[in-house]
Amino acid sequence: MNDLERATSLIDTHGRSIRYLRISVTDRCDLRCRYCMAEKMTFLPRSAVMPLNEIAIIAERFIARGVRKIRLSGGEPLVRRDVLGLIRRLGCHVGVGLDELTITTNGTKLAEHADALRDAGIVRINVSLDSLDAKRFRYITRHGNVSDVVSGITAARSAGIRVKINMVVLKDLNEGEVPEMLAWCVANDLDLSLIETMPLGVIDEDRTDRFVPLTRVFDSLSRRFTLSRDEHRTGGPARYWRVGDSNSRLGLISPLTANFCDGCNRVRLTTEGKLYSCLGHDDHVDLRSALREGGVRKLDEAVDRAMTIKPRRHDFRIERGLAPAVDRHMSVTGG
Ligand code: SAM
Ligand code: SF4
Repeated sequence: MNDLERATSLIDTHGRSIRYLRISVTDRCDLRCRYCMAEKMTFLPRSAVMPLNEIAIIAERFIARGVRKIRLSGGEPLVRRDVLGLIRRLGCHVGVGLDELTITTNGTKLAEHADALRDAGIVRINVSLDSLDAKRFRYITRHGNVSDVVSGITAARSAGIRVKINMVVLKDLNEGEVPEMLAWCVANDLDLSLIETMPLGVIDEDRTDRFVPLTRVFDSLSRRFTLSRDEHRTGGPARYWRVGDSNSRLGLISPLTANFCDGCNRVRLTTEGKLYSCLGHDDHVDLRSALREGGVRKLDEAVDRAMTIKPRRHDFRIERGLAPAVDRHMSVTGG
């Protein structure tokens, strides 16, 4: 075994083992969800976007160093041309180094890609769906048609892919729709994760006006559904409940009201090749430059440096007039 093959596995200075890599394959998107982006977003120039081949080399090095799960996100991963080539290449590692390759998508292009995703080895995906009501969905996303997303979900299920719905709960917008969404998920054999809106990047509204603590939502759901604690862990931030005797799980992602950083096992790679070790901090290392300057050896050094700067926790706060925790939108870091 040579020096490169012998590179150590990834443990940060707080003793957390890093097993999960999220990759934002593009910061671009065909939607403009109000809690995520401003209406007039400035996206990266194409010259700043890493070629898929370099993304694959970096991802494969993470696999060699013990990463067991990779999620492709964005922006909208399915709007990047040739993303299926990357998915197929990384899919070859599933079962041989990688436990799971998955994506988070807004679902608008899922119907056309569902079979190809399944053929590439993807068995579970997350689809964002903040409302089943066509008008409300259009309002939240500014551009979307809910029927496209529902068709995508149907196609994914027909292809044998398990789907989890992500729903960001927003005051005076979709909070009242949560019970209906959960009932719909149960009826369609889907899981549902509810998410608190996070202060990432400037948008056109004050997030304070939309923030809903999930404790409140959970209390109201408990009155309508039988929810029993499910010890299922993905190494992620969600806590899970089984809904009645159905197959569906309810997950709560509560970064504001229930900090989950102690068990954090993830790092995030942006489209530009920057590796962020925390969603809520600006510290990062530049993996693209490292790779271009010194190949895998420099890449390893940069990743080792990232392990030394991973913060213990994020410090998210949502208060009127308070600037976002970081300037980066979730679409840049990869949600
Ligand atoms: N475009 C894809 C999608 O919407 O699923 C993938 C990228 S999106 C950034 C990933 C997830 O982050 C989505 O579930 C979205 O709802 C969520 N998200 C975006 N901005 C957020 C914010 N400020 N707070 C909480 N969740 C956010
Ligand atoms: Fe696009 Fe996803 Fe952000 Fe919505 S949440 S604007 S679909 S990146």
